[in-house]
Amino acid sequence: MVPSCYVHIPFCDSICSYCDFVRIQKNEKFFSAWKDTLIKEIQEYKICDLHTLYFGGGTPSLLDVYDFKQIRNCFPSSIDEFTVECNPESLNDEKLKAYEDLGVNRISLGVQSFKDEILQVCNRRHTALQAISVIEKIKKSSIQTFSIDLIFGFPNQTMEDVKNDISMFLSLDIPHLSIYSLQIEENSVFGKKGIKPIDSDLEADMFEYITKTLEAAGYIHYEISSFCKPGHHSRHNLAYWQDQDFYGIGCGASGRLNGIRYDNTSSLKEYCSFGPCPTYISETLEERSMDAIMMALRTRFGLNISSWNARYQLDFKTKYANVLNTYRSYFEYGDDRIYLNDAGLEILNTILVDFMMIE
Ligand code: SF4
Repeated sequence: MVPSCYVHIPFCDSICSYCDFVRIQKNEKFFSAWKDTLIKEIQEYKICDLHTLYFGGGTPSLLDVYDFKQIRNCFPSSIDEFTVECNPESLNDEKLKAYEDLGVNRISLGVQSFKDEILQVCNRRHTALQAISVIEKIKKSSIQTFSIDLIFGFPNQTMEDVKNDISMFLSLDIPHLSIYSLQIEENSVFGKKGIKPIDSDLEADMFEYITKTLEAAGYIHYEISSFCKPGHHSRHNLAYWQDQDFYGIGCGASGRLNGIRYDNTSSLKEYCSFGPCPTYISETLEERSMDAIMMALRTRFGLNISSWNARYQLDFKTKYANVLNTYRSYFEYGDDRIYLNDAGLEILNTILVDFMMIE
């Protein structure tokens, strides 16, 4: 059984300055062809059992209730974790109520910053006050597991700004935070304008502040970019981090079936005319075994050594004895797992490069 499914909703109302995801300004011309193709693609998989379903984007909360319901009803009625990514300006009372009725039990809200000047620079369509008001509404709903996204490292952002964002996050008593440092992607508006990343020492100080403050407040830093209160981790993302297959459905989606990754077309025109047109990514067993290590070590759940040995017909501790020895003070073991401690997560990339050097 494939336990998880990601559905990509590629439409956005406007394009954020830092974004290079597969997203298209909502386009009435293509919308109904897109929806028909999406529904057909879902139905072809004949999914009868699913642990986690994730509607990401793009902006899934742009879908009106009728369209959302039609797409949702192509999946089994009972799903352990059903997440919908939302933006504050498009999540209204009617949609929130529909999500509750349709089994959504996790919302991921794109807040990005609680400072209006930063939101404007990023071309976000909501204000900080709007985001706070939506968060209060979610808290009053039956959807008790929800997350917000914040970004740090914006041009001209100060440490004080980051402190204010984290302080607002804590005062709102939100169960989960995904936090990312701003990446200036070549194809984003920031990239095209030649915006430069902030000083790397300041960025590292910001991340250290965020980590220490959230941990002191009782949040678990369970993945390099994710913090949660106990019991509120994302089960869907665990499928990615723990080397499991997942369906990727929709224009611009990526998935993995029978261990083979694929990317659906990101051209809306092609998707509407010819369907998902997946490109299969050819990876050797060696590359797949390395992907599994890289993903697992991002998390506090770590790598299950026996499962990895069995799947890749290798012996982890023998093959990587040198790396494990060099960084021995950064690793912890337990329950047949290996994972990085706090200090290890701070130098994750350095450690991963050394794993990759082993033939
Ligand atoms: S950040 Fe989200 S809302 Fe903004 S353009 Fe990208 S996908 Fe759309």
